[in-house]
Amino acid sequence: MKLFEYQVKKIMRDAGIPVPRGEVFFELAKAENFIKDLQAGVVKAQVLTGGRGKAGGVKLFSEPLEGKTLAENIMKMTIKGEKVLGVLIEEKIPIEQELYLSLFVDGRIKKPVLIASKSGGMDIEEVPEEQILKLPIDPLIGLRNYHANLTAQKLGLTGDLAGQLSSLLKKLYTIFQDYEAELLEINPLVLSRGKLIAADGKMTVDDDARFRWPADLPFNEEKTPLEKKAEEIGVSYVELEGDIAVMANGAGITMATLDLIAHFGGSPKNFMDAGGGANAEQMAKALDLLVSTKPKSILINIFGGITRCDDVARAYLTVKNEREIPVPVVIRLVGTNEEIGVAMLKEAGVESFSDLREAVIKAVGFSKVGGDN
Ligand code: GDP
Ligand code: MN
Repeated sequence: MKLFEYQVKKIMRDAGIPVPRGEVFFELAKAENFIKDLQAGVVKAQVLTGGRGKAGGVKLFSEPLEGKTLAENIMKMTIKGEKVLGVLIEEKIPIEQELYLSLFVDGRIKKPVLIASKSGGMDIEEVPEEQILKLPIDPLIGLRNYHANLTAQKLGLTGDLAGQLSSLLKKLYTIFQDYEAELLEINPLVLSRGKLIAADGKMTVDDDARFRWPADLPFNEEKTPLEKKAEEIGVSYVELEGDIAVMANGAGITMATLDLIAHFGGSPKNFMDAGGGANAEQMAKALDLLVSTKPKSILINIFGGITRCDDVARAYLTVKNEREIPVPVVIRLVGTNEEIGVAMLKEAGVESFSDLREAVIKAVGFSKVGGDN
């Protein structure tokens, strides 16, 4: 789970890491006094995705009216498909230098790694390798002074600043451990009037360690409205970027269907795993959901075991009779009660396939012409 910047900054502030003075607002009417109080400041979009600055989600203001207008505009933004939840308004701090600092769990070496670089403020992926310090940390030993010393050296910090860095790093590592973080990033860590200040904060916590999360950890819903709806229906649903909607019954058959679509030059828009034991009502709701995603074609691939082919056929015909399905649907149906299911569909004028290849080729073909059935 990702945390919002304002949440990460609260955690950092509580742990004693210097962050700019700021407040988060979800309703702008409440922000006016704070903006007036600051006079000059920064407005920052609160979204879970990165790269807000480049997308226009971080803006500086030098007088209150400008701040109010910026906040209004940023509040209305959608950044990389994500609606802005609120704005963090902060004092403007003079920046002498932008540094990069992060901790992440490197699965390959099974250890946390400390990353530091003088080139802060930009994507770390774009910084040349030789400008980056990577220090694996033995979790049984923890973060020690020598880690801090090496980091200070790499960042060119000496004397009091090296001391500030050392204290900041230890607090950062404590947060990283206490919150079961996978990533904790400060980019940029700024040098401002002789102080190191975390101007940004990013954190991802490990969902598999949920049972060890601290009680005060905020919870952020990361599912899309459709994913939530699928959860209510009781099927797994994942959004992708193509144009064919896919329904299958079981994780393995679903993945194989996606592979075969790719193999024949198509691209799935989403997939739904209705599981081994989906009933007719669930199937109908699930199909409704797939139709609502406006794909160019729908591919239903059912290998009937516990799921009965006649139930699937009934569900499909229920939806088809209740409303018009505006896209071509290709059904592949084999297994338990196959003959009954196929006959029901045939009677209603719906062709079904027993060969998966044929069905996939047909669905991919429809997605290319975007055409009519
Ligand atoms: P990101 O693009 O989502 O990573 O957003 P950041 O919080 O990192 O902000 C992007 C850039 O805005 C930073 O690298 C800084 O250059 C600038 N910025 C952010 N806060 C301040 C501030 O308080 N003062 C000044 N002068 N610049 C800031
Ligand atoms: Mn940043």
